[in-house]
Parts: sequence; C-alpha cells; structure tokens
Amino acid sequence: MDYQKILDSIQSELSVLPHTGKVASYIPELAQVESEKLGMHLYSINSEHYSFGDSNELFSIQSISKVFALTLAMSLVEDKDIFKRVDVEPSGDPFNSLVQLEYENGIPRNPFINAGALVICDILISILKDPRKDFLEFIHKITGNKTININTKVYESEKAYSHRNAALLNLMKSFGNITNNLETVLDFYIYQCAIAMSCKDLSTAFMIYANAGKTLNNQKIISFQKTKRINAIMQTCGFYDEAGEFSFRVGLPGKSGVGGGISAIHPGQYAVTVWSPPLNPKGNSELGMHALEELTTLTGFSIF
Ligand code: GLU
Repeated sequence: MDYQKILDSIQSELSVLPHTGKVASYIPELAQVESEKLGMHLYSINSEHYSFGDSNELFSIQSISKVFALTLAMSLVEDKDIFKRVDVEPSGDPFNSLVQLEYENGIPRNPFINAGALVICDILISILKDPRKDFLEFIHKITGNKTININTKVYESEKAYSHRNAALLNLMKSFGNITNNLETVLDFYIYQCAIAMSCKDLSTAFMIYANAGKTLNNQKIISFQKTKRINAIMQTCGFYDEAGEFSFRVGLPGKSGVGGGISAIHPGQYAVTVWSPPLNPKGNSELGMHALEELTTLTGFSIF
C-alpha cells in the first residue's frame, strides 16, 4: 500500500475544501492556536512513518488523553472494579453534559465523556504513587519520547474555566462515585488534558491499540482482551455525540479532542493521527474527519 501517495492526495484535497469549523474557545488558550494548522501522520504495522504538513508540531491532546488514562487504569485494576463505576454505552449527549448523570445515579455512560474520565482519574489517584509523574511516564513509555510534557498555559487556562467539570465531580460525589478530594481529581484531569503531543507521537502511542496491546518493539502494555475492549469503547464512544456519524463516514475506532486532534487505528494495519483545530458543531475536527474518511476510502479498507 502506497500510504504516502494516499496522504499526499488527502493533503491536496483538504487544501481546496471549503470549511466552516470553529477553533474551541471555551478554554481561552486553545483559541490562540492558528486555525490553518494541518498535519497528518500514519504509522504502519511494519514500522514505517508517513506524514504531511504540521505533523511534528505539538498540540493540546485534550480528550485523546482519556484513552491513555483508561488504558493505564485497565492495566492496573480489574475491569469489574472499573466498570461498576463507569458504563460502556454511548451517551448521545455532549461530552460535558450533566443531565444523564442525575437520572443515572452518578454512573457516567462511558470513560470518554468528561464525567467518566473524571471517575478514571479518581481510580488512578487511588492507586498511583505520584499520579501526574506516573501518567506522564506512561506516555513516555508508549511513545518512546521522554520530552513529552504539558503545556502550562493550557493547563492554567483550563483551571480558570473548569466550573462545569467541578459540577460533574460534585454531582458524582453526592452519589458516592468519587472517593478522593475533588480539587485533586479535577487538577489531575486538567493536567492530563493539557499534555502536548504531535501527530507522530500520538500515532506511535496508538500503535498499541492496532497491535494487540504491544508497542512495535514488543513491549506488552496491556492484554489483547483489554485492547479489544478499549477499541470497542473508542468505536462506540470516541467522538462525542457523533460516534455513529464517525463510524458511518470513517469506520475506524478512535478518539478526538477539542484541540483538533483525532487518533484512530486499523487493527493489524496502522495508527493514524490528524490535526486541524477548527471543530464541527459536535466538537470533532472538521477537516480531520474528512481526512480520515478519505483515508479509509482510498486505502479500500475500514473495519466494516
Ligand atoms: N479538557 C477538556 C474539557 O474538559 C477536554 C474536552 C475534550 O477534548 O473533549 O472540557
């Protein structure tokens, strides 16, 4: 498969595509990013790298971090102890919605909406010695890149505007589904969202989901059975309230973030990341979705 040729044709198509997306601004620092940035990186199962544009530039991974937090939690805690506190159903509601939590007794629909990710943070805080350091080291391990760190401006900016996430935490605490100090959980959540990575870093990290839980240098990060489960949650819950639309158009498990990144995998084939900051009304990168739709069309394979 000539992936570079396919990526080149996606790049030229995107350059003429009319677009109407808007860069996220509810975290003020995210609004500072240039809306014209565009990069894509594909890492194939035989260790080849293919890319175009701003694929080596660091951007805010935001909700893509939720996949790594879930993976770390599932590698340390039995599934039954995680999934009694957070479900695995698509929510059909916005990522930061409070309504479902009220009538579902503080049990979030899945680990990729904010409420679910906050529960995963609570679980990690209970078992990790130094949650921030241990989480960052986990990212270093799965990428092989020890320079990855947080963007402190994004971190500070989200800290100042985190009232809704604080509300989610308070509501879950009232149902007994948060065990640690609320400020500590909120801080750890904002910290992981503020990690900055490139398309190349993210594709390298996501290779574990395409390669049955192992890095390409054969380090086992998580079992095949758990990888299969994480991929299933990405497929059904990875794209806010348009996971169905993403399956319909692209047909790969993946996760997006409000920083404009989308990482996705084709099991046994590749991990791919695309970054373009303007988001569609559901919060997914507008050009990113288009790029991945073209990728599965031009390669002729998706998981369906
Ligand atoms: N830190 C963001 C928030 O909690 C993450 C949102 C996202 O990327 O979905 O609002």
